[in-house]
Amino acid sequence: MSEYFFNFEKMAYLKAPKPEGCILCLISEKSEAVQNLTVWENEKFIVTVNLYPYNPGHLLIAPKRHITDIRALTPDEEEQLTEKTHYRHKGPHSR
Ligand SMILES: [Zn+2]
Repeated sequence: MSEYFFNFEKMAYLKAPKPEGCILCLISEKSEAVQNLTVWENEKFIVTVNLYPYNPGHLLIAPKRHITDIRALTPDEEEQLTEKTHYRHKGPHSR
C-alpha cells in the first residue's frame, strides 16, 4: 500500500481559508486565487496536478464548463472524458 494513501497535508488544506467560488472553475479560469498546475487543456477540459496528491502523479481532469453532476456532461464531453482518461492506460506514446 502506498505511503501516500492518506495525505496528512490534506488537513492543512481542509482547515485553510478557501477562495470564493467553484475551485474547478477558478482553476479553469487560471484565477490568481489558486495555484496554476495545469499540465494539459483543450477547449472543453483541463488537466491539472493535484496540489495535495494521494499518490505520485495524482492528476485531476475537469470540464471547463461548470457542472455539479457528471450526468450533466454532453455526449461529446462524455466521449472526450473517456478518451482522455483512457489515455493514461495506453501510455504517452500510444497515439
Ligand atoms: Zn465550476
